[in-house]
Amino acid sequence: MDLQLLHQTLAARGEPRFRARQIWAWAAKGANGYEEMTNLPAPLRDALSRELPFSSLALQSEAHANDGTVKALFATIDGRPLEAVLMRYRDGRRSICVSSQSGCPLTCTFCATGSMKFGRNLTASEIVDQALHFRKIESSARRDIPSRPSTSIGARRAPITHCVFMGMGEPMLNLDAVLAACERLPDIGITHRRTTISTVGWIPGIERLSEQDMPLRLALSLHAADDALRSELMPVNERYPLAEVVEACRAFYARKRRRVFVEYVMLAGVNDRYEQALALARALAPTREGEPKMFKVNLIPYNPTDSSYRGSSRESIAAFRTALEAHGIPATVRLTRGRDIDAACGQLAARRG
Ligand code: SF4
Repeated sequence: MDLQLLHQTLAARGEPRFRARQIWAWAAKGANGYEEMTNLPAPLRDALSRELPFSSLALQSEAHANDGTVKALFATIDGRPLEAVLMRYRDGRRSICVSSQSGCPLTCTFCATGSMKFGRNLTASEIVDQALHFRKIESSARRDIPSRPSTSIGARRAPITHCVFMGMGEPMLNLDAVLAACERLPDIGITHRRTTISTVGWIPGIERLSEQDMPLRLALSLHAADDALRSELMPVNERYPLAEVVEACRAFYARKRRRVFVEYVMLAGVNDRYEQALALARALAPTREGEPKMFKVNLIPYNPTDSSYRGSSRESIAAFRTALEAHGIPATVRLTRGRDIDAACGQLAARRG
């Protein structure tokens, strides 16, 4: 829902100011349209249905994976593609991965979005509408199948609990809209402590994030612990080299006291050797005795795209993790989700484009 347009529309009709809050409260609860908003006068509901699209996004396609993951491809009103993903976990967590831009101006070589043309920054409403889409899916499904017992993870519905900005785009390049969207997420049930902004290392954005009152989490996409390889994988490293980025993350920790997640996508024969694990451990090691552990590494099995990269084997990933932990760096291996539906960022849109 375009919230700016909502305010304008209500003001033009001379509606009291509380109407916008009422409408947002319904949307945040997972309403499917204005007709469900029973505390609004019927003529207003009719007028809004005619004048103001309920969502700023049109769903183009939706893919459902066997593991319960749902990936949605949307178009903005001006026809820009973007994607978002809902991941369902057996412990009840529901995590969404949202986009902050249509396409991406950065050109990481392993990323399907990076091979697309950059469209534009998304508005805060377009970001929030991705979350609302999945909120609706989960709440309408709960209404549809309230008591049917099921062992299928996809059939068990639950509120959305987590949000990560790891979809299309670099969130720090659109930080005003990202932060405005974050302010709304708690109304949908996603607290700031469970919201993660992921960056390739855009230092001005990391600095600004550390100045926010909202206790948002920071994730750093690192993917290589030496500048030459990192620049090859992520040209942004030429502008913000590894050591400076890690330093900015240490400053974030010092200010916010929130551990930084380091994302490391595992590419066979590229960044998965033992000595590369040691280099990563060195880069993230405490700089003085007694310093708290500021980083936690997430090793990400690679969802193959049309690029020339192949994912590391399960054994290589396990060995890499063991090497990190042996050198004092906590590490986990990310569960693979939605492999059967091209769940890597940008894959659906890239195939269409
Ligand atoms: S990994 Fe992120 S920053 Fe890099 S090209 Fe893909 S969307 Fe852009």
